[in-house]
Amino acid sequence: MNELFLLKLGEIVLKGQNRRSFEKQLTSNIARRLRGYGDFQISLVQSTVYVEPENEDCDLDAAWDACGAVFGVVSRNRCRACEKDMDRIFDTVLDYLGDELTTQSSFKVESKRSDKRFPLNSIQISQDIGGRLADAFPQVKVDVHHPAYTVMVEVREKAAYVHGPAVPGAGGLPTGMGNKAAVLLSGGIDSPVAGYMMAKRGMEIECVHFFSYPYTSLRAKEKVLELARLMCKYCGRMTVDVVGFTEIQEAIRDQCPEEYFTLIMRRFMMRIAQRIGQDHGCRCLVTGESLGQVASQTMEAICVTDAVCEIPVFRPAIGLDKEEIVTIARRIGTMETSILPYEDCCTVFTPKHPKTKPNLQIVMEAEQNMDVEGLIARAIESTEKVTVKYYG
Ligand code: ATP
Ligand code: MG
Repeated sequence: MNELFLLKLGEIVLKGQNRRSFEKQLTSNIARRLRGYGDFQISLVQSTVYVEPENEDCDLDAAWDACGAVFGVVSRNRCRACEKDMDRIFDTVLDYLGDELTTQSSFKVESKRSDKRFPLNSIQISQDIGGRLADAFPQVKVDVHHPAYTVMVEVREKAAYVHGPAVPGAGGLPTGMGNKAAVLLSGGIDSPVAGYMMAKRGMEIECVHFFSYPYTSLRAKEKVLELARLMCKYCGRMTVDVVGFTEIQEAIRDQCPEEYFTLIMRRFMMRIAQRIGQDHGCRCLVTGESLGQVASQTMEAICVTDAVCEIPVFRPAIGLDKEEIVTIARRIGTMETSILPYEDCCTVFTPKHPKTKPNLQIVMEAEQNMDVEGLIARAIESTEKVTVKYYG
């Protein structure tokens, strides 16, 4: 059928000397994502990745869907290739897009000619194909300003390509170009979105989850692993370190002032996540915090939390409203799972009146009564490592 995908590069085209390494990473990421869907030839020419099935056995629909989750691609076209000849191009438009075109109220043709040896320029190509289509579909109006549908013709080096309007890609930069991050993944709405946002900037992701059995149930843990699996659609396979947090939470409950429970708990999470993360080669932490959303997310509380962090902490949702985070969660497919009603360890020993303007001195004094190192060591010792991947 000569059907193939053209994936257009996003920000990579702005890169200078290191552009080649971004391109290589992108094509290898695409190859890896398509492995389960058949044999594809993947090549990159003039800021466009060509994804061509090598035989009839390829699952094109699944491959197309997978390409939509590859960072580094700004827009994509599923198209049909043909000989660089106006009659062939017209026949291909009729055959490939004819059904779609008949259902439209209006159309226009847009062309691009990157093969400058082709005798017609882009305006002439559009006029010629547009004229023939207007004769073939007299009921569909030509409207060059606000068309309901745009037929695209691209005349490139190897062939001509015919397709409808471009579909958005995942945007961002290719996974693997931006170091590695340890995401503190809870079962909530925000942290999967935060992980996705950093992955979009090219980071590889590992997750750390704190689990307080029996205060939090096995179903709550399953939910978090499911969220990680859903993130894999964008981030690739990852490890989730599930850390036993019960002893620490009980120690905080027994030894610390109640209004500081959440904050001290968060400091333990950060200390542990950075140690586990560094073992995986992670150079930063990522959380789903958003300024002012809850008491532990005020500027003052964040400063107290960050006082134990030795590596950068990225909080990509810091400036987003809940509604904006929810919009992203829905788009990437994590929302439905996030709102399943299982408890998180944060909700287990929630203080009635958490400090919104905490005092670091008081927090440090409270921690002095605890066996911080022993608690951390035992929690890390209890870690269960789970490898997850997307099952699309
Ligand atoms: P989320 O929707 O991501 O759970 P939240 O608004 O409920 O966020 P908190 O519960 O205060 O906020 O948690 C803030 C951040 O701390 C989370 O976004 C996440 O990064 C981290 N976090 C909270 N609980 C856990 C946990 N059990 N395991 C790992 N990280 C956690
Ligand atoms: Mg939470």
